[in-house]
Amino acid sequence: MSKIAPPAPPMIPARHHGGAQTPALIVMHGTVSPCRKGNARSVANWWHGTSSPDTSAHYVADPGESVQCVGDHTEAYHCGYNLNSIGYELSDPETGAASRWEDADHKAMLAIAAVDVARLCLAYGIPIRRLSNAQLAAWDKGGKKPKDGGIVSHRQMSTVFKKSTHTDPIGFPMAAFVKQVKAAAADLQKGASTPVSKPKPKDPVDTLAPGEKVTSLAQINQHGSAREKAALAQFAKNQGLKVTQTGELIRRLNVLRAEGKLGDTGRAVFYAAHGWHEKALDELDARDGKKAATPGKA
Ligand SMILES: [Zn+2]
Repeated sequence: MSKIAPPAPPMIPARHHGGAQTPALIVMHGTVSPCRKGNARSVANWWHGTSSPDTSAHYVADPGESVQCVGDHTEAYHCGYNLNSIGYELSDPETGAASRWEDADHKAMLAIAAVDVARLCLAYGIPIRRLSNAQLAAWDKGGKKPKDGGIVSHRQMSTVFKKSTHTDPIGFPMAAFVKQVKAAAADLQKGASTPVSKPKPKDPVDTLAPGEKVTSLAQINQHGSAREKAALAQFAKNQGLKVTQTGELIRRLNVLRAEGKLGDTGRAVFYAAHGWHEKALDELDARDGKKAATPGKA
């Protein structure tokens, strides 16, 4: 059976997040905003902006698309007890009859979310099942391993770990959703075993939000790996600059990207500056010949 890649939707990086993690649990949330196209980007842009509170999640979905805000191997701040979990936000007003989850917009969004969650579970070895509160506590006690993980709600995280008082997503049909995730996983595995001609990979730099510019190198200095820091030093050297000349380095990165002339090292620095560490390391692996550059995070 071929390996299934994690989701690779457009990335709008959140301003606030933690350090490295191993994805082992999926936590479903409701955004308290309308279930309509465009909501995912507006939530992601809010977390990206300077007025963002100290919160974030890995993904936000709406009826038209999903957007990634924090890399899967980086901790996001979504439920107060976050390490080794993936926060997945569903656009929902969190009010009204539970039957709203069956309207056309919610259905379209849940179809997108089911495929994303199926990809996450298959890519990281997380069982596709709903965890009870007792199983969630056991997952935690057992060292937060992917094989003991599953899918839970923010409400369950609040109940079991008491680091948050939120009870979202309200009225969410969890059992039906887990069934949908299982069906999506079966479809993905069927597709994976059938050889198909692959579409031409899109330049990974283009999967960041349009017009996304490097504004700071703080991400690399605070959360970057030794390889990312070395890439920044290499990029500076290639440009005939010192690592401390950050203003000029940032200007060159943005100019080179606009001209489509970012080399492998520059691309890695571009991603690392946005906190998208997996992507940065993928670029460095490709540069160093460890594996071929691929779209997404395969
Ligand atoms: Zn929540």
